[in-house]
Amino acid sequence: MPVHLRISDIMELKYINIKKCPQCGCSEVVNEIIETSGQQIRYHLNGKRWEQREFACGYAVRFDPNFNEMSEERHCRNSIREQEIQDKLKELIQGVEKSGQELGLCSSTITNMTRCVSRVDATMNLQSQNK
Ligand SMILES: [Zn+2]
Repeated sequence: MPVHLRISDIMELKYINIKKCPQCGCSEVVNEIIETSGQQIRYHLNGKRWEQREFACGYAVRFDPNFNEMSEERHCRNSIREQEIQDKLKELIQGVEKSGQELGLCSSTITNMTRCVSRVDATMNLQSQNK
């Protein structure tokens, strides 16, 4: 597990140029991370490094030199879409639990069913990131 060094005071991020959350516009940076290995900054063979910037709203973006691109590491808590997904998911899970109980299924079966719904949610989030 690589050590994360907080370096915002001594060095600027090179590959992340996003200055605010694209969902809510929050520009308060709460953390910047450059991935390290021991005391050294960890570099990819292509000379680039792993970086991450986190905003107060929860949105976090990461630069991965393997793919040479930025990706969303964590969702914005203010994102309307995220809220909609979470609300819908809660509704779905409650529906699954209710149906399972009505059918007299055992609780572990119902748990497995709700886990499936959660996985669908994860897939939806991945798709929304790739847009
Ligand atoms: Zn945000």
